[in-house]
Amino acid sequence: MEKKEQLYEGKAKRVYKTDDPELLIVSYKDDATAFNGLKKGTITGKGVINNRMSNLLMQRLEKSGVPTHFVKELNDRETLVKKVSIVPLEVIIRNISAGSFAKRYGTEEGIVFDEPTIEFSYKNDELGDPLINDYHAIALKLATREEIETIKKYSFAVNSFLQKFWAECGVTLVDFKLEFGKLSDGTIVLADEISPDTCRLWDSKTGEKLDKDRFRRDLGGVEEAYAEVMKRLSEHM
Ligand code: ADP
Ligand code: UDP
Repeated sequence: MEKKEQLYEGKAKRVYKTDDPELLIVSYKDDATAFNGLKKGTITGKGVINNRMSNLLMQRLEKSGVPTHFVKELNDRETLVKKVSIVPLEVIIRNISAGSFAKRYGTEEGIVFDEPTIEFSYKNDELGDPLINDYHAIALKLATREEIETIKKYSFAVNSFLQKFWAECGVTLVDFKLEFGKLSDGTIVLADEISPDTCRLWDSKTGEKLDKDRFRRDLGGVEEAYAEVMKRLSEHM
């Protein structure tokens, strides 16, 4: 499958058309951004790791009953995916307090919740991805009630799967962001990526951060952290 015209260049990936109107190619970059694009940098090798990791996890999720956009890994950085119309909601699942949750509610990081939480952000860079609830999403016609219920069901299923998977790698899944899209027939599938860019992953023993927070918070050892989680995942496949 060949890359045709570039459809979109995002902060972490480029998206290309193919000969098949139902398929796209995504190409993972080493570019990293944080705080809605205010902080910019490069994480060498990140694109290769995120491509591989996201594809391996999506294949496992597909087997466990969550439909995804994944079709075929083409090379180190490029993957063939099903074209979707993205539901403009960032779905965030949390198992432990961190990041904007801790800030918003004035709690410390690291509090283990009795049950996972779900929240949505309206995917809109100009507005800074504001928090939104399901009623607002329906009012704005971002999704229907039925689609939102499907998205919630899949998101919690992804959490159950990933929590267990990462635990077996000695990694604690703190929180993560998912994006869903609709195929041309309206079917909801998991899209975008699952990687240390989009998940908080802490070493289960030491609590060391093994994700993009090392970049956001200038903690150093960013490349090493991405390589470490990729190594643990590979050893577990
Ligand atoms: P951003 O848009 O936040 O800068 P990226 O750099 O990761 O993010 O760009 C990838 C873009 O491709 C995102 O807007 C994402 O919603 C979109 N996308 C992901 N998977 C698919 C898909 N299967 N079909 C269409 N668009 C997709
Ligand atoms: N996240 C993401 N993209 C975003 C916002 C958040 O992938 O645009 C992920 C982030 O990596 C973390 C989770 O979603 O794993 C929750 O992020 P949070 O709301 O705490 O926001 P942040 O601390 O990044 O402001």
